[in-house]
Amino acid sequence: MSGPNVSPPVSSPGDRYSARAEYSTNGQYSSPVPPLVEFQNVWKTYVTGAEPVHALRGVSIKVFPGEYISIVGPSGSGKSTFMHILGCLDTPTSGRYILAGTDVSQMDEEHLAEVRNRRIGFVFQQFHLLPKLSAWRNVELPLIYAGVDRRQRKLLAMQALDQVGLTNRVSHLPNQLSGGQQQRVAVARALVTQPDVLLADEPTGNLDSRSSNDVMAMLDALHRSGKTIVLITHEPDVAAAAERIMRFRDGRFVGQQQDAA
Ligand code: ADP
Repeated sequence: MSGPNVSPPVSSPGDRYSARAEYSTNGQYSSPVPPLVEFQNVWKTYVTGAEPVHALRGVSIKVFPGEYISIVGPSGSGKSTFMHILGCLDTPTSGRYILAGTDVSQMDEEHLAEVRNRRIGFVFQQFHLLPKLSAWRNVELPLIYAGVDRRQRKLLAMQALDQVGLTNRVSHLPNQLSGGQQQRVAVARALVTQPDVLLADEPTGNLDSRSSNDVMAMLDALHRSGKTIVLITHEPDVAAAAERIMRFRDGRFVGQQQDAA
């Protein structure tokens, strides 16, 4: 099986990893750099019926640059709500969400969309590729919305496809690619704008085990190249690939496990 062709880190791994978070002996997480993502006592309450539903009940977490985190928890525990807020698709009812030093908790939709487009790359269970466009045309789409010129778009799309190991498939249509390759195109599309965080919601949920392993190997390689990855999954094997597993139950963050791999 050929592994993904992920570009080597620009700085040496030693430099990069030394700036990352570490556990201290008392179990606290600490880092020489500020967190990329910080939730401070975040609540999210939905009021649809007679009773309000508290989907998140005072969640406080930090994610540092370069971390690879998986979010696990039973159905209804608040994972999707957490991801929507983390991805700037929604805002907390109360509490603060600081993303890359900016408080985005109370932003209106227009500003939130700007932050989202600039800082977050999404990957979903369904690949959401446009069937009539080749791999690289799919990958360049976010750059069209961002107003990047044609030549630069093609260059960046090719670089992103190279990062996910698809250099030799750039002109293929989605239906000429395997499920794992289509998901790699979707990851390249998420990466092409160089987001701060890659947010993957059940990225292997639609894949057979071989393709799933393929996508996980690619995420691992992206992590080693310095990307920050937050992965939501209900599959223990998939969750275990991350550096840190964060568990949710009943809308609360109930703990984490380090070095799961
Ligand atoms: P998970 O992703 O872990 O399954 P969710 O975040 O989807 O959990 O849901 C957490 C709780 O919030 C559940 O009780 C769910 O029914 C409720 N919930 C989620 N979204 C909404 C919504 N838009 N309106 C009302 N209740 C919601």
